[in-house]
Amino acid sequence: MSEALLDIRNLHVRVEDKEILHGVSLQIGPGETHVLMGPNGAGKSTLGYALMGHPRYIVTEGEIWFKGERIDTESPDKRAKAGLFLSFQAPLEVPGLTVSAFIRTAMEQRGEHLRIAQYNRQLREAMDLLQIDPSYARRDLNVGFSGGEKKKAEILQLHMLKPSMAILDETDSGLDVDAVRTVSAGVAAFQKDQERSLLIITHSTRILESLHVDHTHVLVEGRIAAEGGADLVDAINASGFEAYEKKSV
Ligand code: ADP
Ligand code: MG
Repeated sequence: MSEALLDIRNLHVRVEDKEILHGVSLQIGPGETHVLMGPNGAGKSTLGYALMGHPRYIVTEGEIWFKGERIDTESPDKRAKAGLFLSFQAPLEVPGLTVSAFIRTAMEQRGEHLRIAQYNRQLREAMDLLQIDPSYARRDLNVGFSGGEKKKAEILQLHMLKPSMAILDETDSGLDVDAVRTVSAGVAAFQKDQERSLLIITHSTRILESLHVDHTHVLVEGRIAAEGGADLVDAINASGFEAYEKKSV
């Protein structure tokens, strides 16, 4: 196997005094798209937070390597700078900070300093691509946003920040058909950029319809219970997680 972009080795993660992940290993190569499925409470979001370095999610054993460097002891900020991006299942509302200012600050934190006119042009182009109304850039981040608008804001960040590895945590859940279409078109445009890798956490396959999937992982009770290709997504949709739940005990 070629050098992995993201290499998760035997990861154990604890939240408060409970171990949630019991030795997860997973490798994602450059330009690959992987899907992570699993029943509610399996630990999928926990894996996302642990990868980003959320302080509540404690790595007790194992290692996370990104671009050939060990990152599990690095700050969330450093991981983001290195090119990791997590779209949250429940995005934060930030009164007083506009979408435009938020994304510009995030880009600057990653060392990308654009002049305002150039930044505005890039933002407008990304918003056009995602069919987002321009007025949206001046609204406070996620405040009073519908579920669909929050997800679009995340996809907009994805397009502006251009991380090398994006983890999308149920980006398609709770969206109406039109919003799913817009979001998946946005993710597909991101995927077309050959250097970009994706880890898509999803229950629904609607977002996958326009995407190419290289590999599927099934997480059950904090362990990888099955691995496969794109066809594993279809198999799970047909028969559920039950077979894997038994195997993991
Ligand atoms: P999934 O995303 O697969 O539905 P989660 O990672 O959200 O699963 O949750 C896995 C387990 O970890 C659940 O039992 C959940 O209650 C627990 N958990 C996750 N995050 C927290 C937290 N911040 N505080 C307490 N328990 C948590
Ligand atoms: Mg979750």
